[in-house]
Formats: sequence, structure tokens, C-alpha cells
Amino acid sequence: MSILVSVAALHQGDVHIQGEAPPEEMHWEIQDPCMEARHSLFYDLRAELMEKEVFVEGSVETVLDCQCVRCLEPFEFSLRLESWTCLLALEGEDAVTLVDESVDLTPHIREDSLLALPQHPLCRPECPGIARQPQEPGLQGPASDEARGVSSAWSVLDKLKLD
Ligand SMILES: [Zn+2]
Repeated sequence: MSILVSVAALHQGDVHIQGEAPPEEMHWEIQDPCMEARHSLFYDLRAELMEKEVFVEGSVETVLDCQCVRCLEPFEFSLRLESWTCLLALEGEDAVTLVDESVDLTPHIREDSLLALPQHPLCRPECPGIARQPQEPGLQGPASDEARGVSSAWSVLDKLKLD
């Protein structure tokens, strides 16, 4: 099942559709390895026939399982398109292909949802990244040089004593 709006029903008046589409129906195919669509997409839409086009508006939302690109921790990203709109032609060159005498909204919702995804998912905007060990290599370098200098000074003294 896809998210369909029957054209026959549209000729009768506005159509309100509400429901959920599991990820396998959405055919997400997200390229980003840091994101996975494992939850259903919920939709609440109203479709209206306008001459030779179908106007759709409403909201869609889902949750994606993400991995933060900075700290690598898993987190859930809430994707919500609050006032999503779509205009689909029923006739002419740009006419949509009907599925079971219905307009299939699935590819349009998928496309706009994918566009709304973050490029680099972060668990929170101020994520500091992976916690680093408090290392101060800048101080260790000169310290070891100094230690070497001291030991060489002692070895010079040792040689003087031997003489
Ligand atoms: Zn993070």
C-alpha cells in the first residue's frame, strides 16, 4: 500500500487521508550511512481537485535513527513537515502516473522528506564531539628535552670526577 488519493473520490469533493506508512512502503533508500529509517511515517493530509490538478496539503512526520557525526552516539531525529504542500497535474506533459485510479503521494512525500534531512546529523547543535583525553604534548616535549640535558650534564660531571 502506498499513500494514495482516489481520483474518483476527488471528483466528489475534498479528500482527507490520515494514517501511517511503514518504512518498507516508503522505499527511503537513504544514502547517508549515519541515518536509518526504521519507523513509520505518519501523515495527515487534505487533497483537493483544482481543475486539472490535485492540490495536497498537510503534515507528515517520522523519526529516523541517526548516528551523530561528531560524537558517534546514536540518537533519534524527528522529521516533521508541518505545512507540506504538493501540486500534481492530472493532465498534460507533467501528468502523474495513476496507481489504481489514484494519485500516489508516496514519491513526493519521500522526496521532500529527504530534502529536509540534515546533511551532517548532530545529536545536538552544540555537541562537542568525542571527549578527548587530557593530553598536553606541548609540555611533554620540552620537559623530556630538559631531562636529557640534565642527564648529559651529570655525565659530564661524572667524567670530570673521573679525571
Ligand atoms: Zn553528538
